[in-house]
Amino acid sequence: MKKKTFWLRLTAVLLLCTALLTLTGSGDGFIARAGKAQERYEELEKELEGLEESISKLADQTADVTARRTALAQQITVLREQIELLKQQIEAQQLVIWEKQHEIMLKKQEMTATDALFRERIRSLYMVRNDGILSTVLGANTYAEALTAADTLQRITQADTELLDTLQQQKLELEAQEAEQQLRLEEMEASWAAMDEKQNMLTGSLREVEGTLNELSQQEEDAQAEYDRLYEEYKRAKEEAEREFQESLQQGQGSGNAPPEYVGGEFIWPTPGYTYISSYYGWRTLYGQPDFHNAIDITGGIPGVIANAAIVASNDGYVTMAKYGDTGYGNRVYIDHGGGYITRYGHCSSLAVTAGQYVKKGDVIAYVGKSGNSTGYHLHFEMRVNGVAVNPLDYVSAR
Ligand SMILES: [Zn+2]
Repeated sequence: MKKKTFWLRLTAVLLLCTALLTLTGSGDGFIARAGKAQERYEELEKELEGLEESISKLADQTADVTARRTALAQQITVLREQIELLKQQIEAQQLVIWEKQHEIMLKKQEMTATDALFRERIRSLYMVRNDGILSTVLGANTYAEALTAADTLQRITQADTELLDTLQQQKLELEAQEAEQQLRLEEMEASWAAMDEKQNMLTGSLREVEGTLNELSQQEEDAQAEYDRLYEEYKRAKEEAEREFQESLQQGQGSGNAPPEYVGGEFIWPTPGYTYISSYYGWRTLYGQPDFHNAIDITGGIPGVIANAAIVASNDGYVTMAKYGDTGYGNRVYIDHGGGYITRYGHCSSLAVTAGQYVKKGDVIAYVGKSGNSTGYHLHFEMRVNGVAVNPLDYVSAR
């Protein structure tokens, strides 16, 4: 008898297991209802995020290249000014040299004239002697006179020679000065050539940078066009997903099926990093009146420190409400996790999800605010099981 009971029990257990496996295997759970449209919608969302990232990277690159272009254009402007100044200096230098050359020419003329005068004087002396008339020297009556005359002649010649020497000296000096100025001019022309070359180089770089900039702006334009196109598709997919979700809800209700199954897994703390609870679930005194608080209020301990902190989905599920409002819960998000489990997130500053959207545990759904009936920044975190508010601390623990 005992053996028979064992086999009966075993058969019963096996049957039960098979039944359970069949139930689970049928997979008509809540998650399984994330249909094709929902999948496409999530896919598009990821693609859009990727595009947003590359657009922002392109914008960064464009900013860098634009800065480089500005710097180059400035360098070129400065260089052009320098070149202009140098050109003026070269022109002035040219004038200095021309003046020097003019002075040299005058000096040469003076020398030629003096030389001619000197030759004329010598020739007249010579001619006097050739005429048979005694020269100044020979014509002297006395030796003393002759000596004086010779001396005079010598002094005249000496003076002329000295004058010519002086002129020659001055001419050499002028030529040296001219050579010096010429050297300066050559130096100026050399640096002008160098600057010109640098300007050409910079202009080349500028052209290159402008090419890159054009390329970037083309890429940006393309990415933006692709983004716009995808965004349209995304909007349509989102509507489709919402419609799909609503239909699945109606089908569930219409055919009298059981409510969506609970997605399973543990619920997690909705405000990572902020664990201080300013108001617990249960009775409290609010504005001097007894009040039943059907949730927990989470703050950062220090007033305001939690402002705009991320609020994450406590578990997987469908967003059934994502609404802005300035009364009661303020900006709020409700998530249906199946199996009668619903979480509510109140007083948000802004929302990151929309109704009908499927979220995974830990996804950012909103940010902490003080909208609606709230005196300061906090998250009103509410948990409902089959429509009844329960103590969230029975389901989540601070982290
Ligand atoms: Zn509250």
